[in-house]
Amino acid sequence: MNANRKRMAWIAVVVAVLALVPAVAGSFTVSLLNDIGIGALVALGLVLLTGVGGATSFGQAAFVGIAAYATAWLTTAQGMSPWIGLLFALLLTGLSALAIGMLTLRLGGHFLPLSTIAWGLSIAMLFGNVDALGRHTGLSNIPALQVAGWSLADPRSMYYLIWAIVGLACLFSHNLLQSRPGRAIRGLRGGATLLASVGADAYRVRLSLFVTAALFAGLAGWLYAHMNRFVSPSPFDVRASIEYLLMAVAGGLGQLAGALVGAALVLVLKNGLQDVLPMLTQRAGQLEAVAFATLFILLLHFARGGVMGLLRRWTRRRGGTQGASCNEAPPVEPLPHRTLPERGSQVLSVNGAVKRFGGLVAVNDVSFDVKAGEIVGLIGPNGAGKSTMFNLLTCTLPMTSGQVRFLDHDIAGMPQRQVARLGLARTFQHVKLRPHMSLLDNVALGAHSRTRSGILKAGLRLDRTEENQILQEAQRQLDRIGLGDRVHELAGSLPLGTQRILEIARALAADPVLLVLDEPAAGLRRKEKMALGDLLRKLREEGVTILIVEHDMDFVMKLVDRLVVMNFGSKLVEGVPSAVRADERVQAAYLGSVV
Ligand code: ADP
Ligand code: MG
Repeated sequence: MNANRKRMAWIAVVVAVLALVPAVAGSFTVSLLNDIGIGALVALGLVLLTGVGGATSFGQAAFVGIAAYATAWLTTAQGMSPWIGLLFALLLTGLSALAIGMLTLRLGGHFLPLSTIAWGLSIAMLFGNVDALGRHTGLSNIPALQVAGWSLADPRSMYYLIWAIVGLACLFSHNLLQSRPGRAIRGLRGGATLLASVGADAYRVRLSLFVTAALFAGLAGWLYAHMNRFVSPSPFDVRASIEYLLMAVAGGLGQLAGALVGAALVLVLKNGLQDVLPMLTQRAGQLEAVAFATLFILLLHFARGGVMGLLRRWTRRRGGTQGASCNEAPPVEPLPHRTLPERGSQVLSVNGAVKRFGGLVAVNDVSFDVKAGEIVGLIGPNGAGKSTMFNLLTCTLPMTSGQVRFLDHDIAGMPQRQVARLGLARTFQHVKLRPHMSLLDNVALGAHSRTRSGILKAGLRLDRTEENQILQEAQRQLDRIGLGDRVHELAGSLPLGTQRILEIARALAADPVLLVLDEPAAGLRRKEKMALGDLLRKLREEGVTILIVEHDMDFVMKLVDRLVVMNFGSKLVEGVPSAVRADERVQAAYLGSVV
C-alpha cells in the first residue's frame, strides 16, 4: 500500500513537471519533448511486444510510417479532416499489422526478428517508390490539428496533446498488464504449451499483442505527421526501427516507464551527438550510428534491465519495497462452476493409444478408462511412457494412432487448448510457471478459459468485475493449497516441490472435470505430501476426477482407487492397489524391491 502511494506520488510529480514545462522551457526543449513523447509511444508498444511478450520487432518504424503516410495522403490529396485521418491511419496500421502478423508470427526462433527486418525494409522502400506518396520527396503541407476550433500548429499546444496521449497509452498498458489478456501476454514467454494448458491460444495472444503495439506506433505516426506537417520515407526505415528498439532496451524492457526514460535518453543523446560530432569530423552521420551501436552493446553487457532496471536495483538496495498491490477488492459473485458428471459415469476412455518417436514406441496400444469421482494412478518405471501418455490424452502431443474420449467428445487430434476448455486441466512433470509473476497471477492464469475480457476492455478498465472474480477465484485456490498468505510473492522464489503444488492451484482455477497430475509429490517433504494427499481426497469428495502419475508408491497406494501399470510403453496390469501390489508381473517389472 505504502509502495503504491509512493508510486502515485512519483507519477503526480512527473505529470506536474510535464504540465509546467511549456510555460518555462524554450521552444527547442518543447520540440525535443514532443519528439520524446512520440518516441515513447512507439517504445511503449515495444516494451509490451518485446519486453513482456518476448517477440522482437526490428520493423516498428514501418507502422509509424504507414500511419503517418495514411493521414498525410488523406488530409492533403483528399482534403479530409485529420481526425478522419486518425481513424484511417489506425485502421490501415491495424490491418497491415494483422496481415504481417498472420504471415510471420508463427515463425519460431530467429525467424521472426529476421522477418521483421524484411518487412521493415520493404515498407520503407514502398514509401519512396509510390508516386501518390511523393516518392523520395514525400508529402508536404499536411494540415495542423484543430481541437474545437483551436489550432495546434504551435509546438507548445501540440505538446499537450502528445503527452496526454502518452499518458493515456501508459494507463492503458498498465491496466492491460493487470488483466486476463495481460496475464496471457505475460505467459507467452512460458511457451505455447503452457498457454494451451489453460485454454489460451498463444498465436492469437501474440497476434493481438502485435496489433496493439502497431497501433501505438500508428498513433505516434499520426502525431508525427501533423506535428511536422511533412513526411518523407527516411524517418520510417529500419534504422529508425532500431532506434525505437534501442529506446525500449535503454529504458528497460521490463517496465512501462522504461519507454519514457529510454526515449528521453536516446533522443537527448542523439541531439547531443548531433551538436558535438560535426565539430570532430565531417562524417558525423556515420559516427552517430557507431555511437549508438556502442551504446547498445554496452547496455546488453552491463545493464540488460536498462535504466529502470538499474534504478530498481538501487532502490531495493536502499530498502525500498516492491510494489505489491493489496488485493482489497470488494467480494464479488464467484465465477460460474461447471456441472460435474455423475459419479461413476465415464469421464475418460483411452483406446489403443500408440505414440512413436521415430523408431521408439513410447506408448504401445494402451487402453484404460477413468470414471467420474475416482482417483486413478498411472505408475511404472522411469521411461515407461507415463508422461507421454499424459501428453497424448491432454492432446499436448499428437497421437500416432488410437482414440481418446473425454466426456462426450472424441478428443484425439483436437487442439490442446480446446481440450482444456472442455474441462481437462493438467500439471507438468517439468514445472511450467512464470517465475516473475506472482503466485496470484500464476493461478489467475488458470481461469483464462472461464472468462472473456480482451485487450480493449482490459486496457479501458471495463473488465473490473470479471477481474475481481478471477482474483477472488485465484485467492480461493491458493488458500486451498495453503499458500493463501503468500499470494504476492513471485512464483520463482518457491522451492520446486511447492511450485508443483502451485501448478495444481492453477489447474483448479480452471474448474476442471478431470485433473491430470504428473508427479505432483516429487520434491515434497513428508508433511507436504500428506497435505497434498488430503487435498486430492477432498477434491475427489467434491466430485473432481483425478488421474495421477506418481513415483512415491506409499503415497499412491494410500490415495488411489485404481492403478494402471505401464512398462516399456505397454499396459502391464490394471486393478485396485492391493491386487496390483500382489501381482507377480508388476513385482517382476520393478516393484519387487519397493513394495
Ligand atoms: P515416463 O514419464 O514414464 O518416465 P516418458 O513418457 O517421459 O516416460 O518417456 C517414454 C519414452 O519416450 C522414453 O524412452 C523417452 O526417452 C521417450 N520420449 C519421450 N518424449 C520424447 C520425445 N519428445 N522425443 C523422443 N523420445 C521421447
Ligand atoms: Mg515422466
